[in-house]
Amino acid sequence: MSRYATNRLPRHRGEAAWASILGPGPRYPRLEAECTADVVIVGAGFAGLSAARRLIQLRPKARVILLEAGKIAEGAAGRNSGFMNDLPDDLTGDDHKGAGDGRAQIAMNRHAIAFSREAVEDYGISADFFDRAGKVIGAVGAAADRQNQIYAAHLDDLNEPYEHLDVHAMEALTGSRYYRSGLFTPGTVMLQPAGYIRGLAEGVSRKITIHEQSPVISIKRIGHVWRVQVPNGGVAAPQVILATNGHVESFGIATGRLMHVFLYAALTPVLPEGALGGARRWGIRSSDPMGTSMRRIDGPQGGDRVLTRAVATLRSGMRASELDLERAAGIQQRKFDARFPGLAGLRPEYIWAGQLCLSRNGASVTGEVEEGLFTACVQNGLGTTRGTLSGIAAAEMACGVDTVLTRHFSAEPQPPRLSPLPFRDAVGNMVIRWKERRAALE
Ligand SMILES: Cc1cc2nc3c(=O)[nH]c(=O)nc-3n(C[C@H](O)[C@H](O)[C@H](O)COP(=O)(O)OP(=O)(O)OC[C@H]3O[C@@H](n4cnc5c(N)ncnc54)[C@H](O)[C@@H]3O)c2cc1C
Repeated sequence: MSRYATNRLPRHRGEAAWASILGPGPRYPRLEAECTADVVIVGAGFAGLSAARRLIQLRPKARVILLEAGKIAEGAAGRNSGFMNDLPDDLTGDDHKGAGDGRAQIAMNRHAIAFSREAVEDYGISADFFDRAGKVIGAVGAAADRQNQIYAAHLDDLNEPYEHLDVHAMEALTGSRYYRSGLFTPGTVMLQPAGYIRGLAEGVSRKITIHEQSPVISIKRIGHVWRVQVPNGGVAAPQVILATNGHVESFGIATGRLMHVFLYAALTPVLPEGALGGARRWGIRSSDPMGTSMRRIDGPQGGDRVLTRAVATLRSGMRASELDLERAAGIQQRKFDARFPGLAGLRPEYIWAGQLCLSRNGASVTGEVEEGLFTACVQNGLGTTRGTLSGIAAAEMACGVDTVLTRHFSAEPQPPRLSPLPFRDAVGNMVIRWKERRAALE
């Protein structure tokens, strides 16, 4: 008899702003009964909801129940910056494994984007929540500008389109003179994360059953079925897909191998008309991975606002503290003020933390753990695409379908062991802070 139990559930710090600015969304009842299903999915983020959609496609008659600990779009899926990237961030530097690997990753990312685009069309999700606008990799210092040139050379190798933006073009775009240059790539989709996730949940809920505020506390094998226990009920099913990202470790899977990182973000109130020049929508990620992402959104996405995403902390206990949030808010304010001196001092309406999960070798934890128990977890910070891919792959594995994705995930090595606690967090946070200081301008 196998049993996976957890007493650690997701805890969020700060309001899930993307959902709040859209207003209340559809609600799904708690599970407060005993029932049976063909498949239980645990977690309603990118991975869990994508797994649900793929199961509906492959086994339309299957009875699928999806259990979410919190509310839809309240977790990391509704707390990110919304860059659904087709291109990997690491075409430059030591991680670049040659054009062949780059192409394979790009093809998979585009598969995720195409899958999501079809969902958007099928479920009537607003195009404002899935905006095929592309993104800019911004550079402030000379070193970052050079990085962009190297990245562009790799894009040339891969025959991928891009456009160089000079200081004037960056100002015309952002209304800020802060950026020296930028590299525009057209394939990124800019999500309104809560709008997209809510739409996906609403769409799959036409064929499957969703229960919110129904945290899974144990998964136990009894004979040929898994019994999935929530506080006031449970489901018995022959197959379970665990799509809980870092919380896979809370169930005792991949223990000591995963880095639980919090990222922090802030969103301004709706800007007064004419307060900021430039385009109404744009998204800039920094050319330095430890730099700041900035984004402007407009009316249908939740008002004319600017998002600042900066600061990371390693928190192996999976809790960000109030102090973490306050420290991040101070840094984000300085970043915002430096970019928009005309709006300096404008306090954000929302500040929040969100959890993500990395492995040292960049591998995910996606596969069959034992008969009938699958995982679609560990998205290495790029969960909009990778979460979508791992969810699709876990559903395909559960249906016994052999695809490029199932082969890709089955061939991934497992994440290596990390140094023991508490050194892991102490050293990890020192390294993060050092890298953040090095990227302070960016
Ligand atoms: C500030 C910030 C900015 C980011 N920006 C980007 C970006 O621009 N682009 C990008 O690609 N990624 C970004 N990310 C990362 C991205 O949000 C995550 O990688 C992604 O959400 C992971 O998707 P997932 O479905 O695997 O996990 P999650 O979205 O975390 O979903 C897992 C779900 O499982 C649920 N769960 C956990 N335990 C249980 C349990 N016991 N029972 C039931 N349910 C449970 C959780 O409540 C959660 O809803 C960002 C993250 C943050 C915090």
